[in-house]
Amino acid sequence: MKLFNSLTRQIEPFKAQNPPRVSIYTCGPTVYSFVTIGNWRTYVLSDLVIRTLEYLGYKPDYVINITDVGHLTGDNIGDADTGEDRLEKAARAEKKTAWDIAAFYTEDFLSGFNQLNLVEPKVFAKATEHITEQIDMIKKIETRGFAYQTSDGIYFDTKAFETAGYTYGELSNLDQVKEGARVEPNPEKKDPRDFALWKFSYPGGRDFDPLKDKEEAKRQMEWKSPWGIGFPGWHIECSAMSTKYLGNQLDIHIGGEDLRSTHHPNEIAQAEAACECRPFVRYWVHGAFLQVDGGRMGKSLGNAYTLEDLKNRGYKPEHLRYFYFTGHYRQPLNFTWDNLEAAKQAFGRLVSKLREFKPENGDKQFTVTTQQGKAFKQLFDETIENDIQMPQVLALIWEVVKANIPSEEKYALLMDWDKVLGLWLAENVQTGLQQWEYVGSQSGIKIIADSELSDTVVGFIDEREQARKDKDWEQADSLRDAIRSQGYVIEDTSEGVRVYSA
Ligand code: AMP
Ligand code: ZN
Repeated sequence: MKLFNSLTRQIEPFKAQNPPRVSIYTCGPTVYSFVTIGNWRTYVLSDLVIRTLEYLGYKPDYVINITDVGHLTGDNIGDADTGEDRLEKAARAEKKTAWDIAAFYTEDFLSGFNQLNLVEPKVFAKATEHITEQIDMIKKIETRGFAYQTSDGIYFDTKAFETAGYTYGELSNLDQVKEGARVEPNPEKKDPRDFALWKFSYPGGRDFDPLKDKEEAKRQMEWKSPWGIGFPGWHIECSAMSTKYLGNQLDIHIGGEDLRSTHHPNEIAQAEAACECRPFVRYWVHGAFLQVDGGRMGKSLGNAYTLEDLKNRGYKPEHLRYFYFTGHYRQPLNFTWDNLEAAKQAFGRLVSKLREFKPENGDKQFTVTTQQGKAFKQLFDETIENDIQMPQVLALIWEVVKANIPSEEKYALLMDWDKVLGLWLAENVQTGLQQWEYVGSQSGIKIIADSELSDTVVGFIDEREQARKDKDWEQADSLRDAIRSQGYVIEDTSEGVRVYSA
């Protein structure tokens, strides 16, 4: 397996520290608004890395975080230590609490995760649930002489870090550093590159004072710390949570390219300063941005599309995944509705071809025996092992479709490759599903359905779940029949209950 490592700026052979285990961390969303198809491009990249490693026999040990505090709006202009907390700002705009905002958009993220068939990490680590770990890491950084206090918080001392022999900012790409330099410098910082580890809610870390502070500036998310009342800086959560779950040195760290110039160098500095070991991460993988109509995607531009927007226009998550695969992850990819439509058409053609190829007893494992079939398998392996070249994988799929090999061999090859593609090919071949949806339910079980479900059907599924828990198989069977009489077939899978229109 070879990967482009942003640290060395070249494609390198991948070597895990302790194979077959591969520790992987991906920077997740800030949960203050709906996850966009731009964000999803990065999470699908992370999914592809994980699926590829699994396919090649590795055992990924994978964590993704959920930023539910501390990501400030100043990040938009290149200074993540200024501005308002995105969660608190959204709470005011939507007249909800910051905690409700976090819960609501986290649910949106988890639902999309499911719909896009992304492999679940061992933990979705929330920043607000790891305040102690973050404080502990800041304490270590401080003890080692790499932190200092200003009126608005505790800052990382990049000069002291460098003086101690560490390197700061080796990941950064120079253009973006220059851009960052346009921001008004904070006069209390010893060096413009220094960044907040802990931010005070109110100057000096004191408590809210109704005489001095405006009521609307009252923070909802804040914690006591050795330095005063406040909240963690944006970067510290990733260093603290990744090392907690994966150890001090990670094999792979993934994120969008915007994180390469500041967030990731800061994650490295914190983690290395705290553990006095390096490197924090051996392979850094960065995904290029998704554009819309050839330009930037943004809420103010009205083109920050979500999965829901796509569904409302008749597209399935599989179509989006297929569309993402038309570009290599290190190249910008241009989203247009026409491009998505082309992906949908291609996906539909692939599924109908697979229906033709499917052997009568399709559940049986077929092996690839012809010379040409084996050559295809080898080509596929080489293509994904070479920095995950998805456009070439798509080309290969269509070569297989047209090839002069037995149909069942074509079917076997493509189903095997779906372990990496994650396009739910078998399910699509079987049912021709229109719309896979995640529906919450009373019993907490995940229901994935191909169409809107009535409350009656969801109620039956919940009751059946309860009956199964109670081992009342007769009742469970009669509920299955009741669901059937409403026009649905259900299937119990490791992910939850899948519901098909009969
Ligand atoms: P955020 O919610 O802003 O913290 O971003 C979550 C993840 O999505 C980060 O890894 C970003 O780099 C990534 N991201 C944001 N916008 C895009 C985009 N247009 N294309 C690809 N990735 C993006
Ligand atoms: Zn991060």
